[in-house]
Amino acid sequence: MTALLELDGLVKRFPVRDALGRRAGAVHAVDGVSLSVAQGEVLAIVGESGCGKSTLGRLMLNLITPDAGSVRFGGDDLVKLSPAALRAKRRDMQLILQDPFASLDPRMTVEQAVAEPLRLHRIVPRDQERAEVAGLLSRVGLRPELARRWPHEFSGGQRQRVAIARALASRPKLIVGDEPVSALDVSVQAQVVNLLGDLIRDLGLTFVLISHDLGVVRHVADRVAVMYLGRIVEEGPAEAVLSAPRHPYTRALLAAVPGHGTKAPPIDGDVPSPIAPPPGCRFHTRCPFAEAACREAAPALTAPPHRVACHLDGRLPPAAPRAERLAGGERLKRLQSFFRAPGPQPGVPRP
Ligand code: SF4
Repeated sequence: MTALLELDGLVKRFPVRDALGRRAGAVHAVDGVSLSVAQGEVLAIVGESGCGKSTLGRLMLNLITPDAGSVRFGGDDLVKLSPAALRAKRRDMQLILQDPFASLDPRMTVEQAVAEPLRLHRIVPRDQERAEVAGLLSRVGLRPELARRWPHEFSGGQRQRVAIARALASRPKLIVGDEPVSALDVSVQAQVVNLLGDLIRDLGLTFVLISHDLGVVRHVADRVAVMYLGRIVEEGPAEAVLSAPRHPYTRALLAAVPGHGTKAPPIDGDVPSPIAPPPGCRFHTRCPFAEAACREAAPALTAPPHRVACHLDGRLPPAAPRAERLAGGERLKRLQSFFRAPGPQPGVPRP
């Protein structure tokens, strides 16, 4: 498949200043990330808060400028485009934020908000704007007669639908969704995830989903990239990464998801400060398998399609399945036999 978006060696650091305004260090938000997203593909970027995934999403859209590396969209390096050429490219790239209030101006009606990108990028003649807005609202499951209302008159889920309609208005090729459902009630999340899945499929969109919710990721992603402290530690087809994770961090993330079929040693401690990331493998301070080499040299990612950055890749024990869930009757039988027997029965696991 042709790559629509190619990131090569992206680095972004944010300066940290002391009380006197002097530079006192830098937050290593993104550190040497290379990724590509094929046309029509859904790439999910996952990781804990502060791992750099939102910064990476903004770098993809050139909303912030990298300190090093390149962002190629449709073959053009966004960092090197003139301001006018970059403005024209913006039509093809849109961002959906976690909080729809952040992307909707409270002084604009829904119709004005959705019509704004139509006008800005001259998508349709002025006399067709109203019909186009009505079509976009229907597309996201809202009644067109709601167009005259204000954002505060909508529920959170409806507001996110309006934000999605606004993102679709310029007929983009790429949408980056930064935690697009995590601010919504659980009951509404599934509806919006299904809507996004339908739009991606029907419109052939290329979508980058930034999320900490592995349930959502499993539902829509073709490929998954796992970030830890600014670096990609595992990346590959969603089925491979989510069903047979190879990096200890990915295993621990998945084992923490209720109902996921594997268990893994728990991760100790907090994420280290991104101002002073640990040397060597950045995960070594929390990794239950760390050895001396992990503290000294940063592991490189292996070759595609399933890339992993771990010195012990291929030598770690396979992810252990969780204890099987037994039907009530079978569980009771095993419990009874366990308590009747003088010790654990051979071949009968402790309940
Ligand atoms: Fe753990 Fe070492 Fe692999 Fe890093 S390189 S994830 S510390 S085993």
